[in-house]
Amino acid sequence: MGSKTVVNNYGSFDVTFKKGRGSTLTDVNGKKYIDFLSGIAVNCLGHNYRPLVKALSRQASRQIHICNYFLSDVGVAYANELLTATGFDGVFFGNSGAEANEAAIKLARKYGQLNGGAKRKTIVTLENSFHGRTLATIKATGQDKFHPECFEPYPEGFKTIKANDYEAIKTAFDDTTAALMVECVQGEGGVNLLDSAWIQEASAAARKAGAIVIADEVQTGMGRTGSLLASEQLQFNPEVVTLAKGIAGGVPMGACLFRGNANEVFAAGDHQSTFGGNPLACAAARVVLKTLTSPDFLAKVTQKGDFMRSEISSWDIPFVKDIRGLGLMTGVEIAGDPVVFEKKCLENGLLFSTAGSNVLRLVPPLNISMSELKQGLAILHDVLVG
Ligand SMILES: *Cc1c(COP(=O)(O)O)cnc(C)c1O
Repeated sequence: MGSKTVVNNYGSFDVTFKKGRGSTLTDVNGKKYIDFLSGIAVNCLGHNYRPLVKALSRQASRQIHICNYFLSDVGVAYANELLTATGFDGVFFGNSGAEANEAAIKLARKYGQLNGGAKRKTIVTLENSFHGRTLATIKATGQDKFHPECFEPYPEGFKTIKANDYEAIKTAFDDTTAALMVECVQGEGGVNLLDSAWIQEASAAARKAGAIVIADEVQTGMGRTGSLLASEQLQFNPEVVTLAKGIAGGVPMGACLFRGNANEVFAAGDHQSTFGGNPLACAAARVVLKTLTSPDFLAKVTQKGDFMRSEISSWDIPFVKDIRGLGLMTGVEIAGDPVVFEKKCLENGLLFSTAGSNVLRLVPPLNISMSELKQGLAILHDVLVG
């Protein structure tokens, strides 16, 4: 079932989905697929998760949208729960990852202005990063292929350094640096892990120069890596964390968390959003947070992720170059074109996406059952072994 009505800026697959249950999707022809994609790390509780469906329908009958001139009961409740669970002091709600990062960039620029004057504007990001598709976040993205001439001019004040490179730290920061902005595990860039000793040293150097540290946890946040935030595991205490993707289990939502001196920056009117934090999204986000913080949930995410990686490692496939990841975020680096395997797996009933130029990215729902996980791995095994 093709479509000429939806603007197609994406590589297209000729599959039209109709419904899902747990980590299994069904297309319009009744064919079933195991979901190792989760709508790009969004559907963290899978499909048709009853408490989420119930909370959404209940909230829809009360109020869907109110606008930020007023507070909503569910918005206030969620903000308090999120701040308590993460240990942050303040939050701004938006609707997407790019918007959460825009808020973080604006916050960093104003912070720079207040703490160093007009020259302190630069945001330092990492090579192979991905921070979104708006003009500023695309410029923050440390991959040249995202900066085609046709979209020029881009906002200025971004600089890219090499991740996990100690030499780079020495010259990266000065009195023009407003922030260092990093992903704890680069998603789009190829599931690349950030070394915790390196990011601790880089964060210390950035702070010494007067800058703050932003963790873009749009993909790694909300349990994906086995802790509520991945930055907890890397222990570099970012002043600002951005969230989106899985935060509301599939309902569009983003958040920018700030603490300490970063919580003193935004004043009324500095940054706003019409839809941001609307009651429907907050009702969904409350269910996600409650589920993630229930006993053993995150420990199981870690166990399932470790199980996936040890299974794939045991296959001993010569063209598999590396298997890496954290929690339920796994990259399988291969020699060759990953899209070939993505398509073949789709035909065989397994959904996932690629990252970087040669990586299979596996990000199943966080509550995937062991039986679905094993079924998905069996399909991947058969396709890779050939
Ligand atoms: C997906 C992603 C974004 C962009 O999120 P959108 O919701 O598509 O705007 C930003 N940063 C990271 C790390 C992402 O994975």
